[in-house]
Amino acid sequence: HTFAQLGLDGALLAAIKRAGFDKPTAIQAQAIPAALSGRDVLGIAKTGSGKTAAFVLPMLVHIMDQPELEKGTGPIGVIVAPTRELSEQIHKEARKFSKPYNLRVAAAFGGLSKYEQFKDLKGGSEVAVCTPGRMIDLIKMKACTMHRTTFLVFDEADRMFDMGFEPQVRSILGQVRPDRQTLLFSATMPNKVENLVRDALTSPVRVTV
Ligand code: AMP
Repeated sequence: HTFAQLGLDGALLAAIKRAGFDKPTAIQAQAIPAALSGRDVLGIAKTGSGKTAAFVLPMLVHIMDQPELEKGTGPIGVIVAPTRELSEQIHKEARKFSKPYNLRVAAAFGGLSKYEQFKDLKGGSEVAVCTPGRMIDLIKMKACTMHRTTFLVFDEADRMFDMGFEPQVRSILGQVRPDRQTLLFSATMPNKVENLVRDALTSPVRVTV
C-alpha cells in the first residue's frame, strides 16, 4: 500500500512525505480507508503503531469536506486522550498535518494557559485536542460548544477509564450530535470499553493490529 492508494489527496500526501512517512503502517492501511468512507472505526492498537496519523489524516479530510467550514463556531474535529503527554503528541501531529489547509488546532489540556486555550477555542479553531477534564472546564467557561463537532476520536480509551475519566467521557458524549462520525482506539478491550463502543459507535469497522 501507499498513502495515495488509501485515498488521500495531494496536499496531505505532500505533508506526509515531509513528515518522512514512506508507507502506511498496518493500522493506517486499514483504518484510513474505513474512516474516509464515513464509517465509525474501532482500532485495537498501541502507541508506536502509527495510530495518531490513522485518525488525524481522515479527520482533516472530513473537515475540509464540510461545505459550511467558514460558518459557525466550535471545533468540527475533537480528539480526546487520557493524558497531557499523549495530548501534546497528538496536538503536534495534528498541527503538522493541518498546515497545508491552514486549519487551527486548539489545545485543551493541562500544562498550558487555560486563558490561551479559551481564546483559541473561542476564536473558532476547527480542531480541538483535549483531555476530558480540561475540555469540560473550557466548555463550562463557554469557550465553545460541541454542537458543530461531526468527527470525534477517543484515543487510549482503556487508559481513559483506568484513570477514572468515565464520567467526563460520558459527559462529552452527551454533548455531541448523534450523526457524528466516531473513532475509538484502545490497546485492550475490557468490558467498560466494549460498553463505550456499543454506546458511542455505530456498526464500527473493527481493526486489530
Ligand atoms: P503513534 O503510534 O501514532 O504514536 O506513532 C509512533 C511514531 O511513528 C511517531 O513518531 C510517528 O510520527 C511515526 N509514524 C507514524 N506513522 C508512520 C509511517 N507511516 N511511517 C513512518 N513513521 C510513522
